[in-house]
This record gives sequence, C-alpha cells and structure tokens, in this order.
Amino acid sequence: MGLIVQKFGGSSVKDRECLFRVAKTVTDTYKAGNEVIVVVSAQGDTTDDLIEKAKEINERASKREMDMLLSTGEQISIALLAMAIEKLGFPVVSLTGWQAGFITHSNHGAARIRRIEAERIRRELDSNNIVVVAGFQGLNRFGDITTLGRGGSDTSAVALAAALHADRCQIYTDVDGVYTADPRIVKNAVKLDEITYDEMLELASLGAGVLHNRSVEMAKKYHVNLEVLSSIENKPGTIVKEAVKVEKLLIKGVAKDEDVARIALIGLPDTPGIAFKIFSLLAAKKINVDIILQSIGRHNTKDISFTVPLADKDIALEVLQEKFEILGAERIEAEDDVVKVSIVGAGMQSNPGVAAKMFEALYDANINIQMISTSEIKISVLIARKDADRAVVAVHDAFDFNQK
Ligand code: ASP
Ligand code: MG
Repeated sequence: MGLIVQKFGGSSVKDRECLFRVAKTVTDTYKAGNEVIVVVSAQGDTTDDLIEKAKEINERASKREMDMLLSTGEQISIALLAMAIEKLGFPVVSLTGWQAGFITHSNHGAARIRRIEAERIRRELDSNNIVVVAGFQGLNRFGDITTLGRGGSDTSAVALAAALHADRCQIYTDVDGVYTADPRIVKNAVKLDEITYDEMLELASLGAGVLHNRSVEMAKKYHVNLEVLSSIENKPGTIVKEAVKVEKLLIKGVAKDEDVARIALIGLPDTPGIAFKIFSLLAAKKINVDIILQSIGRHNTKDISFTVPLADKDIALEVLQEKFEILGAERIEAEDDVVKVSIVGAGMQSNPGVAAKMFEALYDANINIQMISTSEIKISVLIARKDADRAVVAVHDAFDFNQK
C-alpha cells in the first residue's frame, strides 16, 4: 500500500494495444491497494509530427505557439488512457499539466517546474480515482502553456513523486532497465539492478537515452525512489538510488553522446586572458562548454578547442566570429563529425588503470582519440563519428560487466 507514480513514454502508449497494456499495469497496481498517479507522454512520434506540421506553416513559429501545439500530444494520450481504464471498470480522471497544478518558469520550450499545486490531484486521489496526468507541460505565471523540453515527461513524473511524497516513481519504457551500454549496439550489455543517482546522471547526460537528465537531478535532490522498468515485460527493472550496496562493479557503463560539436580556435596569441575572453563570450550566451583542450604555446601562439552541444554550434561560431579581431585568432574551425564516448562509474579516480584500459581498447580497435576529459565519475573521449559504435563495443569488451 502506498502512493505510486507510474510514467509511460510515447512508445508505451502508441496504439490501442499498448494503451490497454498500460491500463492493465495501472489498474493492477490500483487493485493491490495503492493510490496511483499515471504520467504519460504523447503517443509514438506525435511530438515529432507536430514539429513537422508547424514547420510547414512557419519555419520560425514563436515558442509560445509551439508550446500550444506540442502540449496537445499529451492531451490525446491522457484522454485515451483514461478511456481505456474506464473500459476496464475503474474510477479514473485525466488532468492536463495545468489542471494538475504544474506551475513553471516562463521560458517556452524549456520551462522548469517551479512548484506543483497538488490540491486537485490530492482531492481526486481521496475520491479513490486513478489520476492520469499529461507529462511535459505546465502553465507559466502569465497563464500561458509551457513545455519542459524534449523528453520532459520523466521530469513531470519525478516532480509529482517529490511533491506528493510518493513511495515510488516507476518509469516504464521500451527497455527493461538501465544497461551497461546500449543493447542495440553491444550485444553482451548487462542490465544493472541498481545504480546511483550520480552515475545515472552521467549516463543520462552522456546520451544513454533512458531517463531525462533533469528527472534524475530532481530525484536526487528530493530522494525520490526511482525505478526504470519495461512496459512490456513484467520483471524487475533498475533501481536508481543514493548508495548502492557492495561496489564490486567499478564501471557502470559505456555511453555514447552524439549531441556534440567541436570548435577550435587556431593560432591565438599566447598571452594571459585569452581563455577567459573566449569562455566568457560563450557563457554570456549560456552555451555549455564541455571538453576543453589548450595546446602548449609555440612561436607565441596557441590553439584552444572545446566541445558544445550540436544545437549551440552556430551561435558559438557567430559570437566568436564577431569578436574574431579582438581574440586575434588565425582561424576558427568547427566540426560536427565527432561523438563522445564515456565510461561511467563511481571510484574512477582511485583506480588509475581504468583510463589506460579504455585507451588500450581504443588503440586495439585502431580508433584515434581527439580529446580526453576525466572526472571523479567518468572518462570521456572525443572520436570520429564513424568510429562511435565500434568504440562502444571495444571499450565495453575491455571491462568485466558480469555483475553477479
Ligand atoms: N512528448 C514529449 C517529447 O517527445 C515529451 C516526452 O516524451 O517526454 O519530447
Ligand atoms: Mg517522447
């Protein structure tokens, strides 16, 4: 008995059969004596299709109107799922994000949740209703519809679990848990029983593609008991939590991040303050810089290169080109034919052999490393895009992932 938040992604609610499968999972949980809140995303590729539709009308549609449009996808899902649950004979009510009390910041398309005014949900639960809530959406202080950014329904679910002090937040997806690598690329990838919030954060941000990054941040902050599991098969998934039991497995996984571009400033003057100038220009545009590399100065010049998310490449180039004279570079180069491959796991720093092992695996596979960065919990390399999947397989093979 308890309060359980269950979230189902777009592929889990894509058609009639899927909707009834979800309705069954939800009503089984309810029948077992739990209060249940269900968060859903838009069906299948609905959100992508809506974005395409918008482009047909206006390539530069305002973000406000985009949110108005995109939020409809989730509304379809909540109504259809509620109808399926009704059909199975259970009391249910569907609520949009704003009916459910999601108050967000004002920035359309990437709004953050400020708070949830949960009285309505509480009331519906007290009347013994299963509550179906539209993920990904809320209302800002101007009374306008906002969306939370792609994949944001995970964050809606975790936020509800935090606000209502749910006993568990279950994220149902089309994979049955968190793996040591993408099982579509690495055949012998192993499912993890447990993972820490920090490791999951790294895997999520490195493109492991299982959970929305902000949902994990929020789960960590509010100690939400999070579980990733399959919406198709009925078996245990992966628990995401604070401390994991005995830490036999050092490396938790290998992740590939394709959302990366490399920018290089060649022939900069080798004088103090250059890095400061470059990165404050980028910071002013809120561009997230990741791996940074500076060459040793020679003939009074040096090179600085760094990576940014793909979507920020053009803006980054623009601001740097604008200040080209002041920076005094010979030229600027940008390259998006790169990917970042990383190994993630707590305790990386106290095991110096780990990096060597990773680099050896890449060397054996004849893959050239362009950049390297390390932290307490991960080691990342930038390599050519064409080598990405081979690199993931090679690195995964180098480590022992047999958990048990
Ligand atoms: N439907 C939205 C998207 O496709 C939100 C989500 O799926 O979580 O990004
Ligand atoms: Mg989706």
